[in-house]
Amino acid sequence: MSESPVIAIDLGGTKIRAVVVNAAGEIIGEDVRPTEGGEGQSVVIGRMVDSARAAVAVSGVPFSSLAAVGVTAPGTIDFDRGIIYQAPNLRGWDAVPLAERLRERLELPTILENDANAAAYGEWQHGAGQGTRHMVYLTVSTGIGGGLILNGQLYRGADGAAGELGHVTVDESGPPHNCGMIGCIEVMASGTAIARMAHEAVAAERSEALAHAAVSGELSAHEVDQAAAAGDPVAQEILARAAHYLGVGLAGYVNIFNPQAIVVGGGVTRIGARFLSPAFELARQRAFHLPASTVRFAVAALEGRAEVLGVAALARESA
Ligand SMILES: [Zn+2]
Repeated sequence: MSESPVIAIDLGGTKIRAVVVNAAGEIIGEDVRPTEGGEGQSVVIGRMVDSARAAVAVSGVPFSSLAAVGVTAPGTIDFDRGIIYQAPNLRGWDAVPLAERLRERLELPTILENDANAAAYGEWQHGAGQGTRHMVYLTVSTGIGGGLILNGQLYRGADGAAGELGHVTVDESGPPHNCGMIGCIEVMASGTAIARMAHEAVAAERSEALAHAAVSGELSAHEVDQAAAAGDPVAQEILARAAHYLGVGLAGYVNIFNPQAIVVGGGVTRIGARFLSPAFELARQRAFHLPASTVRFAVAALEGRAEVLGVAALARESA
């Protein structure tokens, strides 16, 4: 494992973010620019290269002293071959050998990892999962992603597709999801699910507070939380329902993995205890006594940095 700084690049649907990370896991240079995916693959890859070079310039580290590049992106990724399949928000990106394309341009060893796996690794190395050997990571935002650290290693499964913790059925009578499942955790407990339930309540004229929020702008998990905090019973019921299904999912992870910690991150967790405490409590009640009594439920510590710090650590280990 190298002690030299590495480059980490987060390829998102709207933004490319490149950072330089030192061996202590500190970000010492950063560059952010729009992805503008509509301009096509080679333009975007060129932009990733430019962003990486700009971040290095900001860091003041000579390019020749860098050890490796780690790239993280949403979607299905073949880690061993560095290929990205079906990138959401990047039309036409399928089976792109992204690691190789960047390796040719930046002339450094380059790895590619799924964003949820990278975030799990970041929280394990530098955040709320430090000191564990068995950790489950879950990110609850518009979708629900996951990553698994088992026996002190990132667990990728046979094809690199493991850890899709959001796509496990928790209500067979729930709505279908575009993942192919019915009533999966993502469709029952994500930010999108909370917003859907809020819109249904407005359509059924069940909540004046939510109807008011819908008229003045966006109706997302944030507005539902505000209405719940102000005492709206329908908003409280929606959050309780989402928390219930999250808790059912967490109980399953406790029984399957017997983790030392389950770290939960993502935008929806900003709601805080009103959403998370009932989910954690239900998971403890439902899971087997022994693993439920030892598991630590924690809120992610590196919000917004977990992906780049995680993929930087993976790149450093591979260099
Ligand atoms: Zn799903």
